Amino acid sequence: MAVLSRRSALKYASGFAALQALGLPLAAAPVQEFPRILVAGGHPDDPESGCGGTMIRYANLGCAITSLYLTRGEAGIPGKNAEEAARIRTAEVQQACRITGAKPLFFGQIDGNTEVNRQAYAWMQEILRQENPDIVLTHWPIDTHRDHRVIWQLVYDAWLQARQNRENRFSLLYFEVLTGDQTQHFRPTHYVGISEVLDRKKEACYAHQSQKPDTWYPHHLKMSEFRGLESQLGHAEAFVQQDLPGDFAF
Ligand SMILES: [Zn+2]
Repeated sequence: MAVLSRRSALKYASGFAALQALGLPLAAAPVQEFPRILVAGGHPDDPESGCGGTMIRYANLGCAITSLYLTRGEAGIPGKNAEEAARIRTAEVQQACRITGAKPLFFGQIDGNTEVNRQAYAWMQEILRQENPDIVLTHWPIDTHRDHRVIWQLVYDAWLQARQNRENRFSLLYFEVLTGDQTQHFRPTHYVGISEVLDRKKEACYAHQSQKPDTWYPHHLKMSEFRGLESQLGHAEAFVQQDLPGDFAF
């Protein structure tokens, strides 16, 4: 378990030392370079609710963060057709990304109608080749939402391909969303303390006004409180690492 306590955080003055202490495994990143981080979520609001605090903390240190959305949340606003919902939710993503410091990117599938096929596998590989992240954060595979399971499959496959081809390899970690309701059987291996950016994470979540954040943000607040108790970091976001230790020791 990698953690950063408040007291030990004070010892780290330089950006790199702080980066190394922040919680996510950095083995895939070149030495003395800030890792590039890509967060892949099923819908607008998944990256922000699942790991918005982590995105903000790493962005604050100088890391390039990309927020990839499988869909534009086309099915997510009752009474609006897909086109209207996509337009509203794309604007909300742009607002959320201004807060997290991430660059928004859309995969191009349709909310509620996502699919895993050869073309989608290839497109995910292409996006990851272009973005060339050191670390990818995506949904934990055991989740009640089909779209969350779809993006996990696409990212996991790209991770396997990158390992096999020995190029553009990246560390893969999973985040949780609405645990108990959506994410299930999640046992963290890594934590990132988010107490100092909790207000900004909330702001990023509330950028998704069409999703009535009052109905789900409190759930995520309880999660970060609980993960903070587990890790002794105050409020924290939790991750499961896919990589085996030493995976990138080449
Ligand atoms: Zn979602």
